[in-house]
Amino acid sequence: MTQVRREIRRQGLGVSAGIAFGRAYLIGRDTLKAPRHHIEPDDVDTEVARLYKAIAASDRQLAKIKEKLASENESDYHIITAHQMMLHDEHLVGAAVGYIRDELINAEWALRRAVDDIAGVFDRMQDEYLRDRRSDVEFVFERVLRSLLGRETGPVQPPPDAIVVAYDLSPADTAQLHKAAVAGLITDAGGKTSHTAIIARAHEIPAVVGLENITEIVETDDLLLIDGAVGVVIVNPTAATVADFRDEQRRQVAAGAALHAMRDLPANTQDGAEIALLCNIDGPEEIEDALDYGARGVGLFRTEYLFMGQAEAPDEDVHYRSGVDVLNRLGGLPATIRTFDLGADKLAPFLEAADLEEVNPALGLRSIRLCLSPLGRPLFKAQLRGLLRASAHGPLKIMFPMISGVSELRAAKAVVDEVKLELQQEGVAFDEHVKLGIMIEMPSAALSADFLAEECDFFSIGTNDLIQYTMAVDRVNEYVSYLYEPLHPALMRLLGQVARAAHAAKIPVTVCGEMAGEPMIAPVLIGLGIRELSMSAVSVPEVKAMVRATRIPEAEALVQRIGRLATAAEVRAMVADYVFGLTPHAKVRV
Ligand code: PEP
Ligand code: MG
Repeated sequence: MTQVRREIRRQGLGVSAGIAFGRAYLIGRDTLKAPRHHIEPDDVDTEVARLYKAIAASDRQLAKIKEKLASENESDYHIITAHQMMLHDEHLVGAAVGYIRDELINAEWALRRAVDDIAGVFDRMQDEYLRDRRSDVEFVFERVLRSLLGRETGPVQPPPDAIVVAYDLSPADTAQLHKAAVAGLITDAGGKTSHTAIIARAHEIPAVVGLENITEIVETDDLLLIDGAVGVVIVNPTAATVADFRDEQRRQVAAGAALHAMRDLPANTQDGAEIALLCNIDGPEEIEDALDYGARGVGLFRTEYLFMGQAEAPDEDVHYRSGVDVLNRLGGLPATIRTFDLGADKLAPFLEAADLEEVNPALGLRSIRLCLSPLGRPLFKAQLRGLLRASAHGPLKIMFPMISGVSELRAAKAVVDEVKLELQQEGVAFDEHVKLGIMIEMPSAALSADFLAEECDFFSIGTNDLIQYTMAVDRVNEYVSYLYEPLHPALMRLLGQVARAAHAAKIPVTVCGEMAGEPMIAPVLIGLGIRELSMSAVSVPEVKAMVRATRIPEAEALVQRIGRLATAAEVRAMVADYVFGLTPHAKVRV
């Protein structure tokens, strides 16, 4: 008689939404041990040659995996390319060769030591994304180790519609898995920015990570139910549980299809006001997806990502090409390109080399302050030259981050004038009337918005930082995150003041912080007089649904009522109440 296994529920981190139901396919981790022994001085060259041979073999394997990927634009393609680069990285290979020569140890041991040195550096990093990159070094190590030991693995081949269960998945594994049409992925390890998460999201495969010991609980062929939105995994679900999830799955599929069907509908309120829904991007390659979600332009291109992780700061041509690339991909839709916003938690090699040793970098030499300083000015000028040249190719606007007040705005505009003059003298084409705008992301800017509006062409409110600086709460500090509240009455007042100043000066005002992508908050922003919202592309359909259910006079009345409330909790409750009345089925996060 077969034993009926009982239902087990586990909570992990849901990193890619969607419900999947299927049989488990366990990818075991036969723990490979790196053998350790000393070698004779005469064997050093042989050992170094073994290492290089294994690296070359690993490189060929990765190249083969890449060949099978459908497109060079997929995120997995780039990640595997990065792994190939890591294989030849001097810090890794040079250090391993050094250990073989200096300490007379075998290649496997030397490589393990070189990997440990690098992994230690990643472990100490503050940034979660960078910390997660430790796993990349381990994946690369494991591949070379397998080659050294003659234990190369073939591709993992789960049956279609299986749910893959693993300790962790390398990008190469995940890339192959999505081709195999697996139904879901669950892992012991991993965080929000692990590769399993990134690739699963890109290919819309439901995934739950950080389950700690799921590989010890699940056996191949167990029935599994996973909900990637909330991070739940159910092993051996009962018939009743499966029925519940099937209902939820049908609801989610129907909601997803309805939202997608809205892609070509206008983002108009019930009374016909058009709200521009734009997207925030970190690179031009995100534009196709954003258009697919229904975005009508780029409201914020965070160009600092052109600097991060690059040994050399981008030159004028890089900025020119990326600006033109954005415009071409948008095919006539507008693009707002923000000049680089580096400093604080966003670092680039030139900044790290400067070793500023700031005690409080969030309040330090960052963003436009850095651009106007001797350290950043040449890079700022190069970017402005590139962007101005790109402005000859389409509707490009230039935006300055972290402007504190009018003096700083004038200083930034003076650099633009200087660059324009140079280009004119050189006979280089650019749009003479290119629009120059500013981010409003600190209280000093919000409170002097009327002065600022007289001297620039548009505002974009960066609520992520505006909340941080208004509430004096570090936006990435979990201990005080309870204070990070977009609907705080102080924020409502600042937003209202900025919108009124923009209207009085007849300049457009966008909100481009995360709160612009919260559907529930859309009626509030509309009621405050905001007509442009810029958000991460996936939020566009849900925000559009909310816009289409909103009436301007009602949204304005809501803002009036909110104005009499003293706490964020009361504001949130009133907004939730209002939104329930609009769309009874709207998902409201209270
Ligand atoms: C903001 O501060 O709201 C913003 C959009 O900029 P970033 O998140 O890049 O600081
Ligand atoms: Mg900001």
